[in-house]
Amino acid sequence: MKYPTPKLVVSACLAGHFVRYDGGTVKDPFVEKLLNYCQILPVCPEVSIGLGVPRSKVMLYWKGEELRLIQPSSGKDLTEEMLSFANSFLNELEEVDGFLLKGKSPSCGVSNSTLSYKDPEGKTFSHRTKGLFARKILERFEDLPVEDEKRLKDDRIREHFLIRLFSIARLREFISSARSISELMEFHRINKYLLMLHSQTKLKEMGRLVASSKNFEQAIREYSKLFKLALKKSPSKGQYINTFIHMYGHLSSRLNPKEKGHFAELVVGFNNGFVDKETILELLRNWSFRFEEEYLQTQTIFEPYPKELN
Ligand code: SF4
Repeated sequence: MKYPTPKLVVSACLAGHFVRYDGGTVKDPFVEKLLNYCQILPVCPEVSIGLGVPRSKVMLYWKGEELRLIQPSSGKDLTEEMLSFANSFLNELEEVDGFLLKGKSPSCGVSNSTLSYKDPEGKTFSHRTKGLFARKILERFEDLPVEDEKRLKDDRIREHFLIRLFSIARLREFISSARSISELMEFHRINKYLLMLHSQTKLKEMGRLVASSKNFEQAIREYSKLFKLALKKSPSKGQYINTFIHMYGHLSSRLNPKEKGHFAELVVGFNNGFVDKETILELLRNWSFRFEEEYLQTQTIFEPYPKELN
């Protein structure tokens, strides 16, 4: 299986740069492994706005409804510098496939994990929120995967992030060389079951688009938008079962009654939490080889990203 190389914007401290406030970096075994498969675009927004290494800590506080970034030791309000850096960085950014940022940071924190305060001295805790730089990314790239290293410790979140990151990279690489609607049809075909898994509605919409488009450039633009939207939500158990059954439909007429019974038992087991999805996918893949069912063999759902990242 040939994998694309995702273009990933990464907090520089997660990419091994010694840019943290204390002069350190962040060691995360999964992130280190992932970065080997990506083209990395490292950024440290705090260093980029002129704060040195090491530096006094910065923090977030609420001035009424407004979130401000402040350095309590110097009393400097860095909000405008940070927002202006975020805007210019994102304006100049080449096309990327996702973002992996450092959790809990007042600048980079993307999930609600960063402490915020009610006063500029950081004496009274308010609540956990998102960092200032990360907010701009979330506002402007709502169709791309944006996560922090802490959330990627959760198996389901990590898998969904990887599926989106590598699929969007595959789409970008495809677009860079595609020239015709028939190539788009083929791309759509190999992604059919991965798309079905995430959104049957979007899959149908994309199928109609590919089948009826006359203008290639316009089709690619609309297809890209729908593709990213389709993968946005993590699939439910029901969506897995529906997809397994559709895939099984390519093979069932050539299976014997015992094999059919075995498949049905596995699906029930999956529904009840005793069988994992990989077991069913592997069985379907084996059968697709045995019956030389090429339509299934080439589906990206079997290996949407390098298995070494599991
Ligand atoms: S979390 Fe962000 S701002 Fe802080 S050191 Fe890392 S890259 Fe720089």
